[in-house]
Amino acid sequence: MYFHYYGQLLHQQNMLQDYVRTGTYYAAVMENRTDFIGRVVVDVGAGSGILSLFAAQAGAKHVYAVEASEMAEYAQKLIAGNPSLGQRITVVKGKVEEVELPEKADILISEPMGTLLVNERMLESYVIARDRFLVPNGKMFPTAGRIHMAPFSDEYLFIEIANKALFWQQQNYYGVDLTPLHGSAFQGYFSQPVVDAFDPRLLVAPPIFHGIDFMKIKEEELYEIDIPLRFTSSVGARVHGLACWFDVLFNGSTVQRWLSTAPGAPTTHWYQLRCVLSQPIYVMAGQEITGRLHMIAHNAQSYTIYLTLSAKMWGPGAEQGGILQTSSCKLDLKEPYYRMSQPQAYPMVQDQQSHQLISTQDIPIQTHDLDDPELMQQPSPNSGTHLNMMENV
Ligand code: SAH
Repeated sequence: MYFHYYGQLLHQQNMLQDYVRTGTYYAAVMENRTDFIGRVVVDVGAGSGILSLFAAQAGAKHVYAVEASEMAEYAQKLIAGNPSLGQRITVVKGKVEEVELPEKADILISEPMGTLLVNERMLESYVIARDRFLVPNGKMFPTAGRIHMAPFSDEYLFIEIANKALFWQQQNYYGVDLTPLHGSAFQGYFSQPVVDAFDPRLLVAPPIFHGIDFMKIKEEELYEIDIPLRFTSSVGARVHGLACWFDVLFNGSTVQRWLSTAPGAPTTHWYQLRCVLSQPIYVMAGQEITGRLHMIAHNAQSYTIYLTLSAKMWGPGAEQGGILQTSSCKLDLKEPYYRMSQPQAYPMVQDQQSHQLISTQDIPIQTHDLDDPELMQQPSPNSGTHLNMMENV
């Protein structure tokens, strides 16, 4: 099923037409020619072969383009049609977990990112390819990734999802009472993560991130990803859930370049992802929001997401017990609600005050060089330091 999808040219075209994605890869490779000139490269999941061709353009000695789907045949055609580059590329049809290659790679190149970075579970294949093919101290393009998270407030989205289940509140549908299924339908709609591009002003707190170092992480560490959450709300709002996006770093010898999918940055085919709580929580400006994002891999090449957000009760009586207002949800990353075709409900005349939740400057949109790759090593609940560092670059 998975490889059938990638075997079709239309899906490869969709990725190639994401110019933010493909253009950033091109720039990252070309700006770091020194990492490719005279080097052996393995392209992990080559698809159409585009990244192999970029690596050859940058002067690679030889590129092994490993692709498991039927796309390998098309890649072969494309590469044969570009002979000056193609003579330094070998297409290998098969899974990176299984194929044998005649030599080790100095550098791996791949585009293994799915929604929320980890969807499709291809990062595991990237890590296996590292352990099988990369020389010690070799390079990986991309080198590391980060999942960014922030609570958001979006009444329109919440009502839209809740309303989908209204159908099941009919008591006389051809003489049948549908209400016994309303609760299940309601839960069902809230178990779908929402994929779309949203206005970053919907975020109610500065984001935090969870870093994944592709050079170091073990395959098993991707089976279960547990992220503690701690935010300080910038405004008073109803929090409807957690917004997530990711970026990846190409830690080249010449230039360090980021590919970002942040809200407010040029939109990519990954958009952003939001986990919506069926029970919103109320927060005041300055109030702390805590919680947990717990993702467990399943064998349909995706993850079950368990999200909990909590806020300490505010106002009279709060000192007595620190009572928590808590809301949880369980979502399947495999079954998102693609909302991009919906009209965007953010008219310019909208009440600016309530929606000027946080400044877009607070969001780490990073497409240029970064001086300090050590940033990647920080644990996730570190928004303060992280944001300051971002502003300095
Ligand atoms: N590198 C291309 C395609 C990226 S999509 C580009 O950037 O445009 C990811 C590709 O990896 C798909 O074509 C998919 O079939 C392939 N793939 C995924 N898992 C793989 C594995 N374990 N072994 C080999 N190929 C894999």
